[in-house]
Amino acid sequence: MIVMKFGGTSVGTTDSIDSAAKIVAAAVEKQTQRDGAEESPGVLVVVSAMGGVTNTLIDAAQAAAAGDETPYRDARSQLLVRHQVVAGQLIEDGVERAGLGRLFDNRLREFERLCRSITVLGELTQRGLDVVSGVGERLSAPLLAAVLRANGVNSQFVDAGEVIITDDQFGNANPLMEATPARCRDRLLPMMQSGIVPVVTGFVGATEKGVPTTLGRGGSDYSAAILGAALDADEIQIWTDVDGVMTADPRIVETAQSMEELSYEEVAELAYYGAKVLHPKTVTPAVESSIPLRVLNTFNPSHPGTRIVEKTRQLHYGVKAITAVRELRLITVAGRGMIGVPGIAARTFDAVARQRANVLMISQGSSEQSICFVVPEAEGDAVVGALKVEFARELAQNMIEEISHQPDIVIVAVIGAGMKGTPGIAARVFNALGERNINVIAIAQGSSEANISLVVLQTEADEALRAIHDTFELGNGAD
Ligand code: ADP
Ligand code: ASP
Ligand code: MG
Repeated sequence: MIVMKFGGTSVGTTDSIDSAAKIVAAAVEKQTQRDGAEESPGVLVVVSAMGGVTNTLIDAAQAAAAGDETPYRDARSQLLVRHQVVAGQLIEDGVERAGLGRLFDNRLREFERLCRSITVLGELTQRGLDVVSGVGERLSAPLLAAVLRANGVNSQFVDAGEVIITDDQFGNANPLMEATPARCRDRLLPMMQSGIVPVVTGFVGATEKGVPTTLGRGGSDYSAAILGAALDADEIQIWTDVDGVMTADPRIVETAQSMEELSYEEVAELAYYGAKVLHPKTVTPAVESSIPLRVLNTFNPSHPGTRIVEKTRQLHYGVKAITAVRELRLITVAGRGMIGVPGIAARTFDAVARQRANVLMISQGSSEQSICFVVPEAEGDAVVGALKVEFARELAQNMIEEISHQPDIVIVAVIGAGMKGTPGIAARVFNALGERNINVIAIAQGSSEANISLVVLQTEADEALRAIHDTFELGNGAD
């Protein structure tokens, strides 16, 4: 059985939805030929909202909370038209089209009602936002299922709220790994055994009480991995708009090329450090169940894409790919009074943890005079405030001289499992940056040694990526 996930870019227009449906139809045909006609098609589809829809929904809800009702009213009519146009172009059957039209209309009316109550309350809770932001997938999944039926594939849409059961961490919910597999098996296996291809909404889930949740932005990849692991799939395919996982983001580094194979460890590092092609949590369910992942291009389906496996076949020495996380802040706690005083680091990170801030990188000078670390810009003010409270006494006594912070910085991460034991990589990185006058503000090496991370200024980040990509000859034509 395979899980096929189509991202927002793969279902953004009539043509791309048509391509996605043809890819699924071909996979169903292939699985049926392999397993025999009487067997189930063995394909499960996961789909994101049409490209840009989630942003539109979130922006509209935020405007509603601020008292502006125009965006949600506009969004309702615009989204109705956008989905209906696709249905009109790809589905001939009038009854089918009318049914879909009613479904779109009902869901968007519900969206409008929600936004109206957000305006009345003047407040948008994370819980409310999860209901609104999941509407896009609740429109695209029924649409894709209907387009599949129009292509001769017996298909039905399933709301992931029925199968992905999560905790109540709204906006970034975690699947409950007892309830979810059981629900998936009960709801999805009988469908698949009777020859139906389920089209499940990506990104969303629900608590045990049925309250809608979301798995975090870009979370449809994670949905696919959760479902694949729950159903013990043979492969999880992530269909997107590039030829697999590439040596760098092709939007920034033009010469980036796609990689045939990567290990779970390498792709986890890449995703964690900002490579948007896979949601960072996607790897965990796949690793735990040893299910291979494949990243493929909806717009170039004959390209083999990237296979992500436990151990790569070829040994590759050195750097494989580079990536960057943006919108970060570097915070430094410094002072001579820190030398030899135990517990400063522990107190620093306790204070940070109380703010629930995510620390992306830590670097401490051997002189112990300072600790610096990086958090998302959005969490920066809260963290600095908490540290000033935690170290109020030390600051007053000048044991800690300053808690300084620098906004607009980026972590550039250099990735490759084969970097272990390959000397001189950091030196080459520094040389490449030095030649272009790019200042490295801080550096750290991950404990896995599959990653070296550097902090640079936002304004120099793209240039830094290109410089490192060039110096390791990761581009087209190089091996
Ligand atoms: P989807 O809508 O399919 O989920 P995303 O936009 O979330 O697609 O992810 C695909 C995009 O990720 C690509 O278009 C590319 O610009 C970006 N990207 C960033 N880093 C990488 C990388 N290392 N390899 C491939 N794509 C990357
Ligand atoms: N539609 C959601 C988002 O834009 C989930 C996804 O695309 O994976 O974040
Ligand atoms: Mg994505």
